[in-house]
Amino acid sequence: VKFIRQPSATVIASTLPNAEALAAWAREHGFGEIMDDYATPLHSIVHDQADPLERVVEFAGRHCYRSFGKGREREAYIRNLLDEKHGSVFEHAYLTFAISGVSRSLTHELVRHRVGVAISQESQRYVDASEINFVVPPIMLFLGESSVSTFSAVCAYELDSYCEQKDALVEKLKRLNLSPRMFTKRANEAARSVLPNAAETRLTWTINLRSLIHFLLIRGQEEADLEIRRFAVELFHKAQPHAQITLSDFEVYEGDFGVPALRLKS
Ligand SMILES: Cc1cc2nc3c(=O)[nH]c(=O)nc-3n(C[C@H](O)[C@H](O)[C@H](O)COP(=O)(O)OP(=O)(O)OC[C@H]3O[C@@H](n4cnc5c(N)ncnc54)[C@H](O)[C@@H]3O)c2cc1C
Repeated sequence: VKFIRQPSATVIASTLPNAEALAAWAREHGFGEIMDDYATPLHSIVHDQADPLERVVEFAGRHCYRSFGKGREREAYIRNLLDEKHGSVFEHAYLTFAISGVSRSLTHELVRHRVGVAISQESQRYVDASEINFVVPPIMLFLGESSVSTFSAVCAYELDSYCEQKDALVEKLKRLNLSPRMFTKRANEAARSVLPNAAETRLTWTINLRSLIHFLLIRGQEEADLEIRRFAVELFHKAQPHAQITLSDFEVYEGDFGVPALRLKS
C-alpha cells in the first residue's frame, strides 16, 4: 500500500488543427489569397506549428467576423476574446488528462463539473482494491508525520476490512451457480462500501478551455477543499504550456496550510 502525497495529471491528448484541411477549406471558401499572404492571421493559423489550441480558438473567433485578413496579433486577439467574454470560442479546444493519485472524495467533487467535460473513471467493481493506495489529505501533511501515521493506520485497518469482506463474499458466492467473473464483480462491488473516501482513484478527464478556466477559478481558490485546490494547481501547471495566452491571467501563490492556490493577477 502506498500513501500518496501528490496528485498526478498528464496531458495525453489535445486539440490539433489540421493544416491540410484548413488550407483546403480556405481555398474552397475564397480565402486562398489571404492565406497565401504571410502577413495575415489566416496564414499563421494554418501554417504555424505553435499554439495548436489557441490557433483553433483564434480560427473560431475570426470565423465569426470573417476577419482572417488583418487585425491584432494572436496574443492581443485572444486577450480581447477573454475580455469580451466571447466564451464559446474557447469550447473548441480540449485537453485530455490521465489522472492518478487523487482520492474518491476529490473525484466526487470533480464530477460535479458537468459542462464541457468527459470522464472515464477506474471501476471499483472490475479492479480489485486489495492493493489499493490511499491519498493523504493535505492538512495531515501540514500537521506533521504523527498525523500522517495515524491516518495511515486507519486506512490499513479499513483495507483489511475490505479484504475480509471480499474473501467472505467470494466464498459464499462461489456456492451459487455464477461465473468466476461474476462472483468477483459482485464481491468487489459490495466490499468497496467499507473503503474510505481517501482510496486512490484514476481517471481520464477531458475538458475544454472555457470550462477549465471556470474550474481553475473556483477550485483553485482558498475556500476550496485542500486536495482539489492542490489538484487545480497541478492541472494549471500541466495545462499552461498548451494555453499560455488563455491562462496568462492566473498566478500561483502559497495558500494556507502549505497548499498552493490560484488567483487572477491584479
Ligand atoms: C468552495 C466550494 C464549496 C462547495 N460546497 C458544496 C456543498 O456544500 N454542497 C454541494 O452540493 N456542492 C458544493 N459545491 C459544488 C458547487 O455547488 C458546484 O456544483 C460545483 O462547483 C460545480 O460547479 P458548476 O456548477 O459551476 O460547474 P459546471 O457543472 O461545469 O457548470 C459550469 C457553469 O455552467 C452553468 N450551468 C451548469 N449547469 C447549469 C444549470 N443546470 N442551470 C443553470 N446554469 C448551469 C453555470 O454558470 C455553471 O457555473 C461547492 C463548490 C465550491 C467551489
